[in-house]
Amino acid sequence: MTQTKHIFVTGGVVSSLGKGLTCASIGMLLERRGLRVRLQKFDPYINVDPGTMSPYQHGEVYVLDDGAETDLDLGHYERFTNAPLSRDCNYTTGKIYQAVINKERQGDYLGRTVQVIPHVTDEIKAAVRKLAGEDVDVVITELGGTVGDIEGRPFLEAIRQFALDIGKQNCLYIHLTFVPFLKAAGEAKTKPTQHSVEKLREIGIQPDILVCRTERELTKDMAEKIALFCNVEPRAVIEERDKEFSIYEVPLSLVENRLDELIVEKLGLRARMLDISDWRAMLQRIKNPTHEVTIAVVGKYIKYQDAYKSVYESLDHAGIGLSSRVVIRRIEAEDVEREGAERVLGGVDGILVPGGFGYRGIPGKIEAIRFARERGVPFFGICLGLQCAVIEFARNVVGLTDANTTEIERNCQHPVVCLLDAQHTITQMGGTMRLGLYPCALVEGSRAHQAYGQALVHERHRHRYEFNNQYRQQFTANGMLFSGTSPDGKLVEVVELPAHPWFVAVQCHPEFRSKPTHAHPLFRGFVKAALERREAKKKAEAARRAALLSAS
Ligand code: GLN
Repeated sequence: MTQTKHIFVTGGVVSSLGKGLTCASIGMLLERRGLRVRLQKFDPYINVDPGTMSPYQHGEVYVLDDGAETDLDLGHYERFTNAPLSRDCNYTTGKIYQAVINKERQGDYLGRTVQVIPHVTDEIKAAVRKLAGEDVDVVITELGGTVGDIEGRPFLEAIRQFALDIGKQNCLYIHLTFVPFLKAAGEAKTKPTQHSVEKLREIGIQPDILVCRTERELTKDMAEKIALFCNVEPRAVIEERDKEFSIYEVPLSLVENRLDELIVEKLGLRARMLDISDWRAMLQRIKNPTHEVTIAVVGKYIKYQDAYKSVYESLDHAGIGLSSRVVIRRIEAEDVEREGAERVLGGVDGILVPGGFGYRGIPGKIEAIRFARERGVPFFGICLGLQCAVIEFARNVVGLTDANTTEIERNCQHPVVCLLDAQHTITQMGGTMRLGLYPCALVEGSRAHQAYGQALVHERHRHRYEFNNQYRQQFTANGMLFSGTSPDGKLVEVVELPAHPWFVAVQCHPEFRSKPTHAHPLFRGFVKAALERREAKKKAEAARRAALLSAS
């Protein structure tokens, strides 16, 4: 029988250290040593899931096949590994308490007083155990937040108990910390790491491995000092230096510091030699691009780094596949309104309008789409991006000047995007959108069909509103192709303009299914079209110059 081993990853000193990336990288390295890995994240906040949170609060909401709305770290897990993810891979305090309270209401606790220890901690441990099994060698559980946070306490208690339940030899505690370099003192400081490990040890967790985020090299002396004060072996103090080029370099620096070997040894795992040659080849392509292309992402949450995380990643993936550097120009939709599309978007090679909610920014997005349509600039619309594209088409091509989505204008004259009957009766916000994987049938020969090379595809969704079928005929007559629908033909999933160089918009979120080693076909198709436009422009410019020269 396989005894699943468990790795618990905690973080200290400051947040935003890239714990998710570190976990994803560890998962990737173990997978490439032949181990069957699962990943999971605990988020100590009280929301049941991040689905109801603003992107400003939380960044992107990452959607899984099963429709779970999860933390964006799960996006890193999927981009780095092949581990299957489900709603069991992301728990919050809210979700844990909801389960405990439901049990209490059903009388499952048989008259006992329900308490944090043992009832809440039992529920947390059950969530960890759910991922273990015959077909799993290692479960990596990431604890969100920083050691010392009040909300994180029950989770720390639970993971401490876990080693007592299944034996310390089957558990490994990795603590990610920050070793700041103080310019004024001219040296790196280990004290914050010492304090953060002290906090962990107060709860009874002695970390086995410390991964130290640093801006500069972690010297041998430093590592030895940290080891001594934190009670870990010197070789278990691992440097994780800031990356210059790409997040996909993180696994390499962990390999250089032999983290994979250490984990395999400490957990007594039977693993094969590491093979990451394809990953190294991918990094080479990132470092040595042969072309460059500029893509404008016109959105509403542009200033916030993480709001469109997977969209930015997917654009990069497409660039890697095409040996090109994708320069992403993040554009606030309201700037397009204020300054005009020509000024803000003139010169870009492609325009992408991502998903979103609410009114703000919509006029600017529509303006950007008009610019792309009229100037023949490759355009890719995602979810709200599709909805804006059909509104723009309705208003400026079909002539329905009052067209809108009922999300913005309930009683508009031409609701080209509206709620389906099933959504009309919903009153609760959390988890009630059209969520998760749905099939889509593509029209033969369409751009989408060419990109995928397949007639039936599956993509993840997260939206309430849909294209209003009453307008299909009118749109078709004016040159829009409904190139993807649900297999029963009822829901519009993809629209495109065959007369345009590349104008494709989708109701789904393809950005949740792209990997650095396998770019999503639609992102690839879009970036390729943008590259072609740039090359054509360059050629035309060279020809113009040559003509001028020969004329003079
Ligand atoms: N707000 C739109 C809807 O609910 C689009 C959602 C999205 O872009 N994810 O349908």
